[in-house]
This record gives sequence, structure tokens and C-alpha cells, in this order.
Amino acid sequence: MQSLTQIAEQVKTCQKCDLYKQAKNPVPGEGNAQAKIMFIGEGPGATEDELGRPFVGNAGQLLSKLLALAGLKREDVYIANVVKHRPPNNRDPQPDEVAACWPYLEEQIKLIKPKIIIPLGRHAMARFIPIGTISRNQGRVFRREIKNLGKLYFYPIYHPAAALHQPSLYRDLENAFRRLPAVLKKVMAN
Ligand code: SF4
Repeated sequence: MQSLTQIAEQVKTCQKCDLYKQAKNPVPGEGNAQAKIMFIGEGPGATEDELGRPFVGNAGQLLSKLLALAGLKREDVYIANVVKHRPPNNRDPQPDEVAACWPYLEEQIKLIKPKIIIPLGRHAMARFIPIGTISRNQGRVFRREIKNLGKLYFYPIYHPAAALHQPSLYRDLENAFRRLPAVLKKVMAN
């Protein structure tokens, strides 16, 4: 098995889909390699593309604030995306791009072995939980068998960027983070 650093190196030179062509920097992911909680977003945005780091724009700042509600810091968790290069103009990643990039995320999950994965928003959720909508599934715990990864716990929540555009979602997001310590405790006890 490779290391997280090796995965990041591979992402740097990856040309398995066309997303690298218009991206400025790869955004492989960052955080605690032994994190119990792994956040997975859809793909890098403009600021992430500039800096090569996940969740560092406005949505990232909101994510840091929300983490504090759960008594967590960014260094406590691992943050990655479904696709590692920015889709042009923040368009949705296409299924072939998601499929091409999946082996990197799969390997990251294998290495980190998180107790719970938190998909951020509907696209990230759909990769793991292809049933229901994000509004129905957010804040609920799922246990699902994922090919090559075994049974994993998931706790999908709204993407912080969605709450920036639609403040009515903020309350649900805040509640999901306040409940996170209890959710983690429960899944770790199982
Ligand atoms: S998005 Fe993923 S699969 Fe596509 S070029 Fe970047 S690293 Fe490779």
C-alpha cells in the first residue's frame, strides 16, 4: 500500500481525466493521517485551485467554524474531495471524472481508516449513498458496504457552500456538527 504522500505525488502528474488541463494546482487532500473523521467534498473551488489545499475559501472558513462546534480543529480530521482537480467554473464533476479519480480517494480511505466519513453535499454523498436526497439524508448515520473498503459509517451533511448561499440550511449544518461528538462516540462503540 502506498502512503498519503505518494498518492499526492501521483495526483500531481495525473492525466486520467481532462480536469487537470484547466486546473492550476492539484488538491489531493490534507489533514491528520490517523483521523477518526474524514470529510469528503465534491471538488476543489477557485481558492482551493489557487492554493492546492482543500476547503480554504469561504466554505472552508465556515467548515473550520463548524468544526469548533464539535470541539474539533482542522488538524484533527482529514479533508479530501471526490475529484482532485477543479472542474472548470465549478461545474459538477462528470461521472467519468469521478470514476477516474476514485482510486485515489479509495486509497486515502484505506490508509486513514476513518471511523466515520462525512460526505459534504449531494455529489459527495451520491458516491457512497446512492439513495435519497441530501435534504433527507443529512444528519443521519448510514452504514454501507463499499466495494474494496468493507462496511463504513457515513454521516452526510450539507456542503458548507450551500449554507453560504442558502442561510436556511445553516441551522441543520450547525446541528449536525453539534451532534457529531455523540455520533462518533456511538459508531466507535459498535
Ligand atoms: S481529477 Fe483526478 S482523475 Fe482527473 S486528472 Fe485530476 S487527479 Fe486525475
